[in-house]
Amino acid sequence: MTGTSTSATWAASGPEAGFAGREASRRDLVSTRQKEGVRGGTTGSPALVLAIETSCDETAAALVSERGEVLSSIVSSQSDLHARFGGVVPEIASRRHLELVAPVVREALDQADASLDDVDGVAVTQGPGLVGALLVGVSAAKAIAWARGLPLVPVDHLDGHVASLYLDDDPVEAPFLCLLASGGHTLLLAVPERGRSERLGTTLDDAAGEAFDKGSRLLGLGYPGGAEIDRLAQRGDPKAFAFPVARVPGLDFSFSGLKTALLYTVRELGEEETEKRKADLAASYQRAIVSALAGRALAAAEQAGLERVAVVGGVAANSALRDALPDARFAPLAYCTDNAAMIASAARYAAPVPYPRFLELDAYASAA
Ligand code: ADP
Ligand code: MG
Repeated sequence: MTGTSTSATWAASGPEAGFAGREASRRDLVSTRQKEGVRGGTTGSPALVLAIETSCDETAAALVSERGEVLSSIVSSQSDLHARFGGVVPEIASRRHLELVAPVVREALDQADASLDDVDGVAVTQGPGLVGALLVGVSAAKAIAWARGLPLVPVDHLDGHVASLYLDDDPVEAPFLCLLASGGHTLLLAVPERGRSERLGTTLDDAAGEAFDKGSRLLGLGYPGGAEIDRLAQRGDPKAFAFPVARVPGLDFSFSGLKTALLYTVRELGEEETEKRKADLAASYQRAIVSALAGRALAAAEQAGLERVAVVGGVAANSALRDALPDARFAPLAYCTDNAAMIASAARYAAPVPYPRFLELDAYASAA
C-alpha cells in the first residue's frame, strides 16, 4: 500500500530541522485531540496534510491526517453568488476565491485546533477545473509550502473525488468500479488500487450533474439543481413521463437529448400545467438520468470483472441513485460535492513535489 511510502516521502522531502522543530507541537496536538475523544491517532503522531480546493465555485480547505482522519473540512460555497446567472461565472469565481482562500485556510486550522507549525505537507487541486479559479488555490498552496519549507502535492480533482471514498469509517477495498458523477464530469473508472484508475467510459456531451442543473432551470427550480430535483421528485411519479435514456455504444453516456426532451415537454404543457405537474416532471427526469447512470455502472463492473461498485461526486448524494444501486458504496454525504478533505485524502497516494521545484507547477483546465 502506498500509505507508508508516501509518509516516508513527506518526511524525506521536508527540511530536517523544520520537521524536528515541529514534532513537539504536533504531538501535543494529537494528544489534545485524544483527550477530546477525536477518532484515531492512538499511537505516534500522524502526518498532517493541509489541502486547498478551488477548482470551481467552492473555496475549501481541510486538515487531514495520513490515516485519513478529517480534523477539519471547511467549504465556502459561492453558489448564491452565481445563482442569478444560473451557472458559475468564471471571473466572479476567481475573484471570490481570492477573497476567501486565506480566511478559509485559517478557519480549517482553527477548527482543528492547529497552526501551520503542525502541518507536514500541503496538497492542492491542480486541475481539471476553471483555470483562473484553480490558480488561486495553487498560488496560495505554493506560498504556504514555500514559507514553511513544506513539500507540495498537486492533486487531480477527479482522483480527489475517488479518494473521498477512503474517508469513510469502513472504506471500500480496491479493486472496484467507480462511477464519478458531478457537475463537470461523468466517468466510469476501474480502480485497481488506491491512487490508480483507468477510464472505461465518459459522457459525450453534458455531465450528469449538469443535466440535473439544466433540468432544474427548465422547471424554474433553484441552482444548483440536483438537490432541488431530488427533493421535489420525492412527491412525483417517476413513470408519469417517458423521457428517453440515450443509447450510445460502449460505456459512454449522453444527456443532451434528455434535456431537449424536457424542454419540449415543458413547452407543450404550458406554464400552468408545468407548474401543476412539476413533481412528476422532476421525478421522471431524474429517473432517466439515474437509470442511465446505474445501468452503465453495473454493465461496466460486469465487463471489467469488478465485484464492487462505488459512487462519488455531487450526484452521489442523489437519493434515487442510492436506491437504484443498493449494493454499491457511496462516498460519505459530506464529501460528495467539492471539498478539500478528499484532496488531502488523494494526496496520500500521490507524489509530493519538493521545494523549490513545486514553484514551477501550473494549473490545468481539462482532464488529460
Ligand atoms: P463539480 O466538481 O463538477 O463542481 P460537484 O462534485 O461539486 O461538481 O457536484 C456538484 C453537482 O452535484 C451539481 O451539478 C449538483 O446539481 C449535483 N448534485 C448535488 N446534490 C445532488 C442530488 N441530491 N442529486 C443530484 N445531483 C446533485
Ligand atoms: Mg467536483
